Amino acid sequence: MSSLHVFFVILFTFNLLAIPYLSSFTIALTNNFARILSSKRNVGILSLVGAGSLSVGFFLTREQYVSAGAQVRRLYPASADYPDLRKHNNCMASHLTPALYAKLCDKATPNGFTLDQAIQTGVDNPGHPFIKTVGMVAGDEESYEVFADLFDPVIKERHNGYNARIMKHPTDLESSKIRGGQFDDNYVLSSRVRTGRSIRGLSLPPACTRAERRDVERVVISALAGLKGNLAGKYYSLTEMTEKEQQQLIDDHFLFDKPVSPLLTCAGMARDWPDARGIWHNNEKTFLVWVNEEDHTRVISMEKGGNMKRVFERFCRGLQEVEHLIQEKGWEFMWNEHLGYILTCPSNLGTGLRAGVHIKLPRLSKDPRFPKILDNLRLQKRGTGGVDTAAVGSTFDISNLDRLGQSEVQLVQTVIDGVNYLIECEKRLEKGQDIKIPAPISQFK
Ligand code: ADP
Ligand code: MG
Repeated sequence: MSSLHVFFVILFTFNLLAIPYLSSFTIALTNNFARILSSKRNVGILSLVGAGSLSVGFFLTREQYVSAGAQVRRLYPASADYPDLRKHNNCMASHLTPALYAKLCDKATPNGFTLDQAIQTGVDNPGHPFIKTVGMVAGDEESYEVFADLFDPVIKERHNGYNARIMKHPTDLESSKIRGGQFDDNYVLSSRVRTGRSIRGLSLPPACTRAERRDVERVVISALAGLKGNLAGKYYSLTEMTEKEQQQLIDDHFLFDKPVSPLLTCAGMARDWPDARGIWHNNEKTFLVWVNEEDHTRVISMEKGGNMKRVFERFCRGLQEVEHLIQEKGWEFMWNEHLGYILTCPSNLGTGLRAGVHIKLPRLSKDPRFPKILDNLRLQKRGTGGVDTAAVGSTFDISNLDRLGQSEVQLVQTVIDGVNYLIECEKRLEKGQDIKIPAPISQFK
């Protein structure tokens, strides 16, 4: 009998004893082990210790697992705690009802993350000047399950009808499938593809402890040290950077902004800033990994000019290499077949992918048809300073609108075809020719 087996037998005995405080401790512990053991990489361990003998009492069903985490002590009835959402315009506020709040407000994930924590950012931020925000975040992988009654309709609204219970999300990182991908450099200033990845077993930025956050940093840096060739690089901790160095990286579009956005601060993501935050990049600054901003990691490939094909190739190669290295260290990314890669904000579920360009569109951007054209091409515009910035002049950050239900290859192809269409429109307007609003493309091809 392996030592792991003995450990589980002891835990099982504790469960049977049903000593109140010990049993809740044991349930939390068994839950964590059940989660770790049921993850992809541990199928081997399962068969080693004999899954049959473990199944009773340890491998709780999803419902048992969820109710085992429900430990919120409430002083007032749910109705007295219901947030005032009358002036709000975000997806959470559109779907939360007093009845739903009453149903979910005394539940918590096994890590102790509550509904109130999940929705706080949406309660504190009634609207956003440029986009309809989601209004809620996940504190851990289980949040999407424990609070599914609210997350699911929010996901459905944000992801164009995606049904998180029944639909399955595809992943495709075969960059050779891309058609075209070299933009006209007279219009496209830079190209970028990013995604996020979360380390399974550690709480997400809205909920993590300092120790967990530092663990994310430790795991990621040690894995990235294994990158070779033109991907090889170095980690730069925010705590060790001068203010000037940090600002330079932000101004050059390599580093995330300081946590000035109330969307971030109200979600709890700026706690302890800048502890355990940093940026890893290769020498050319074409492959970058952000650590502990909105997600555990953001993986980015970028370069000046319009070679989106090359940027995507490096993205796919680098990302797969990073995943492999993380696995070698005994960890894995949060993922499931319905939601794809699990990230902090529901808007990033699935691929987590945002492929975009900084592009000059002086004529088209002044045309009243521009928003409709973008919408029909499933594209989104931002200012060049990032998500919370307005456009300065006529240069925009144009990227894919969707993340979930389509693969990385499909989304990048949508951006390539769409940006080419925008450039064509700009050229036609230069020559005084008319432009057309394209037919809407469907999201789930
Ligand atoms: P993300 O969605 O990756 O969090 P943000 O909108 O927050 O992106 O922007 C983060 C930084 O990345 C900003 O400095 C922004 O200017 C930069 N950025 C985004 N897209 C591009 C691009 N195509 N080229 C150069 N920099 C970019
Ligand atoms: Mg961002």
